[in-house]
Amino acid sequence: MAKINYQKKPSNNKRGYKNVLFVALIVVIGIFIYAAYGQSSSLKEVPLSQVVSQANNGEIKKITIKGNELEVTPKGESQPTEKSYKEAGSTIYDQGLKQNVDGLEVNPQPDSNAGGVWLTLLTTIGPVILISLVLFLMLRSAQGQGNQALSFGKSKARLYGNEKDKVVFKDIAGSDEAKQDLEEVVEFLKFPKKFQGVGAKIPKGVLLVGPPGTGKTMLARAVAGEANVPFFSISGSEFVEMFVGVGASRVRDLFAKAKKNSPCIIFVDEIDAVGRRRGSGMGGGHDEREQTLNQILVEMDGFEQGQNVIVLAATNRADVLDPALLRPGRFDRRVNIGLPDRKDREAILKVHFAKKPLAKNVDVDALAAKTAGSSGADLANIANEAAIVAARHNRKEINQADVTAAFEKVAIGPERKSKVMSEKEKELTAYHEAGHAIVGHVLPDSDMVHKVTIIPRGGTGGVTWFIPPEDKSYHSVIEYKDVLARMLGGRIAEEVMYGPDRVTTGAGNDLQKAAELARDMVVNQGMGKKLRDQVFQVDEGMMIEKIVHERQYSDETAKIIDDEVESLISEAARRARMVIKANKNKLEALKDALLEKETVEAEEVIMLLKGASLPKEAALY
Ligand code: ADP
Repeated sequence: MAKINYQKKPSNNKRGYKNVLFVALIVVIGIFIYAAYGQSSSLKEVPLSQVVSQANNGEIKKITIKGNELEVTPKGESQPTEKSYKEAGSTIYDQGLKQNVDGLEVNPQPDSNAGGVWLTLLTTIGPVILISLVLFLMLRSAQGQGNQALSFGKSKARLYGNEKDKVVFKDIAGSDEAKQDLEEVVEFLKFPKKFQGVGAKIPKGVLLVGPPGTGKTMLARAVAGEANVPFFSISGSEFVEMFVGVGASRVRDLFAKAKKNSPCIIFVDEIDAVGRRRGSGMGGGHDEREQTLNQILVEMDGFEQGQNVIVLAATNRADVLDPALLRPGRFDRRVNIGLPDRKDREAILKVHFAKKPLAKNVDVDALAAKTAGSSGADLANIANEAAIVAARHNRKEINQADVTAAFEKVAIGPERKSKVMSEKEKELTAYHEAGHAIVGHVLPDSDMVHKVTIIPRGGTGGVTWFIPPEDKSYHSVIEYKDVLARMLGGRIAEEVMYGPDRVTTGAGNDLQKAAELARDMVVNQGMGKKLRDQVFQVDEGMMIEKIVHERQYSDETAKIIDDEVESLISEAARRARMVIKANKNKLEALKDALLEKETVEAEEVIMLLKGASLPKEAALY
């Protein structure tokens, strides 16, 4: 897409210009040298006495005299072939040449001393020209650097707006509410008079809040595209540099540029990089950031009515922003953009597959169902990966297998088939994964098993994949307890099959995730037994705050939290153990299938585990 870079860059032209100068210099010096020496250098130098005696003997046709230089043309030649020098102030006759030798033409010419003149010129003016040229070039490049140093305080904002294929709302799939909210902003930009006429103040700032990759930048560009106004884009982190004061001066510059191009949109990505709550830094280390933020506030306050510049800012952490940014007259409007739901995911996938040749058997709807929790950018990535996989197999169309491979690669990383596992390790991995699968399969509130594999992927030895049948926004205690049990299923399978002290580090990651989930349940979700309905969430600020923050609960509560977490984990382990022990034959069957095929798909897992039972003591209800 055509991008107009606002910052002047040293263009290639300049470099070309320098090269031409350099070549010209060499040519000029070459001409000087040729002029000085070139003309007569081909003549053979002979002593004057020889010339005189040859001439007296009638062997020479012509002698051309240029100053003290003689050019000699012997008989039978048409051009001079020899040269000689006579003494200054004397004539050639003084040197012994007879008068009127037959057939000899003596041709004195005015003393042009051409070579001498050129040589003098070269030795006197040459160095002057050379030094001037070098100085000139040096000055030019120094000036270039000077410009760069001066442009340091200039914003690096990129200006979009003139390109033909600009983004409009139609290009963005889903996000209907966000589009509706932003429709208003488009109207403000298109028909400001309508609003000013009834005394309405046009908003200055709109905050787009949503997880990364949900299309915030795209939406901002679409607003500019719909309103047909220029769009300045800059990232919050670009304001902040090593040098103090740069951020603030970049803000000033950006707003000045924008005002010149009004009506227009300024888009500040990652506003939280500069807009975090002030005063939280320790030891004044955030002065620069605060100055930048202050400058943004000053500039926004300084917008006069009718200026018609609207600032859109994107963040995924609206909670850490400085309240001053959110006051009326600043970013007082907020548009929330969530992760896409199934319908939107399908629409986004269709947008991204639209320009790619897709085989008829590809089920985009099923892919949308599997990709709960993915952002628009993730889905775009899957579509692209699928095209790459198809191309690598030299296919002209993307088929279902390519799409599945792309989805799995994006979701858990590429397969690492080359990693060598011993037979023993393979067996252990197969038991481990089969353990996850059985517990997940048997417990009623866990998700469905989608696939089990013992091919290492990403950073794991094998994967058991669960996919919820539908998008879920909320989770119950019962669901979480089943999830905890299936997370521990791998470790417990190892324990049941090999004995308690032969369990391996293969479960490290599972245990960590389980501990995190259990703590989250107790601390953040009020799902403890004793501490039911109480939350102890501490605002997670910046790193420094995390270190110094004080707990909002007493030591006794901390102890209870630890006990609650422990009891959740041990309950989960107990339930997993009961399920695995009760279904050992199924575990063996799935393990064997895994060892044979390495990957077992959902349907086969269901077939293999048919009849697996849930022991009464492991049931929650
Ligand atoms: P953000 O600014 O929220 O991080 P972007 O606007 O940069 O996200 O989106 C990244 C990419 O994801 C876009 O270039 C686009 O390809 C894709 N994308 C995200 N959301 C959508 C959507 N709703 N429709 C189509 N493509 C989308």
